[in-house]
Amino acid sequence: MLRLETIAEARRWRRAQSGRVGFVATMGALHDGHLALLRRSRAETDTSLVSIFLNPLQFGPGEDLDRYPRDLDADLRLLEEAGADAVFLPTRDVMYPPGFDTAVLVEGPLTQRLEAAHRPTHFRGVTTVVTKLLQVAQADRSYFGMKDAQQLLVLTKLVRDLAIPTTVVPVPTVRAADGLALSSRNIHLDPVQRRASTAISRALDAAEARFDAGERRGDCLRDAAGAVLAAEPLIDVQYVSCAALDTLEELDRVGETALVSIAAMVGVTHLIDNHWLGLPAGLGAPHADLGILPPALRSDL
Ligand code: AMP
Repeated sequence: MLRLETIAEARRWRRAQSGRVGFVATMGALHDGHLALLRRSRAETDTSLVSIFLNPLQFGPGEDLDRYPRDLDADLRLLEEAGADAVFLPTRDVMYPPGFDTAVLVEGPLTQRLEAAHRPTHFRGVTTVVTKLLQVAQADRSYFGMKDAQQLLVLTKLVRDLAIPTTVVPVPTVRAADGLALSSRNIHLDPVQRRASTAISRALDAAEARFDAGERRGDCLRDAAGAVLAAEPLIDVQYVSCAALDTLEELDRVGETALVSIAAMVGVTHLIDNHWLGLPAGLGAPHADLGILPPALRSDL
């Protein structure tokens, strides 16, 4: 596995690749969710590049940048074992050298609701760093997790709006055996908080079960999730949402698709999770036909 530290090195590596390149952007503290993106990339492309960059721009004041877990040695071991071909490890100065003055913004409703309502500068940080990383990687396919649903929708829109030459591939959420979505931040949960946190995925299951039973009223789906969360006092709920994929506006009635999502604080740990309702089956499989995705998840339209 090659280690690339500067943009010039990364570009040289990219130019030397003759086949299809897959790209996975991460902030490190890697777990099996990140590796699922890499596995999918390896199944669908000829060489896979992973970046590790803890992006300060996407953390607001008072958020957990200082506490965010870091373990570069373990990350490099995991990537090597999982078969990454190269890892891009830019420093803050490489990504944001003195005089860096540019921001990339996706405007409109996608960046106003849910996470954006609680973290107003977050998506500006995400879209700015991902634009730069995509410029460096020049990847045929770029893999992003469905766990960060709003981020995935925003990045799909970014790639489409700016005609960035890559295909965004959504990868289903990887969960622990008890249902908790894997997240770098889970390491901060003590055993009692860890157990309490499973209420988030149980709440999403409850909403999805109602949807599968034919319920289409947004309030009833939100309430089904909310009732599970209300029974768990350690969970401080920020939102329970049942929203349209293209605008993230709350739905009175669900049509074909919806995103049910939850954000909560458990102690000082920020957790998010979601279920996508009404998506075609089989999306998680390598070489799945992305043409059957709803327009909000297609970067190629
Ligand atoms: P992060 O390092 O948290 O910025 O995440 C890097 C990428 O991994 C993003 O595309 C995330 O959506 C994705 N990711 C994080 N956790 C999971 C998970 N549990 N399952 C699938 N993808 C994930």
